[in-house]
Amino acid sequence: MTDQNTHNRFCEANGCPCFGTMSNSTAGWDHGAKYYCFLHFGCKPGRAHEITNELQRLGWLVKITQTIRARGGERDWDKLEAAAAKEIRLNQSIHLLRGDHESLQKWLYRLEDTLRFACSQARQEEIAVPPQGEEDEKAVQS
Ligand SMILES: [Zn+2]
Repeated sequence: MTDQNTHNRFCEANGCPCFGTMSNSTAGWDHGAKYYCFLHFGCKPGRAHEITNELQRLGWLVKITQTIRARGGERDWDKLEAAAAKEIRLNQSIHLLRGDHESLQKWLYRLEDTLRFACSQARQEEIAVPPQGEEDEKAVQS
């Protein structure tokens, strides 16, 4: 996973439910360095809020990725994974369940990719500007 110190400080982005794991400062927490999650790190300031909203909406998934990072492979992992699977089912996202031969690490990456994708969607929606005078074949609103 990461070789950075594990700490339980949250991402600096206001209201973000993720842990802050990335910083462009090497100063460390004690010296004023700001840590961001992998989704807020390097994002444009104007986008931070959208990303936070999306992460809050997907808070259950954020929690699962945090559990895998923190506890993955521990002795009682089977129980934790069962709880995660239950949560995934509750949120009607069975495509996110761990595959039969999927390693824990791969599963974690897949779940984090899902978050990354959701957040990039949120960003695009905000960026999207209707094209002028073009036939909008994509507009399937009824
Ligand atoms: Zn964040």
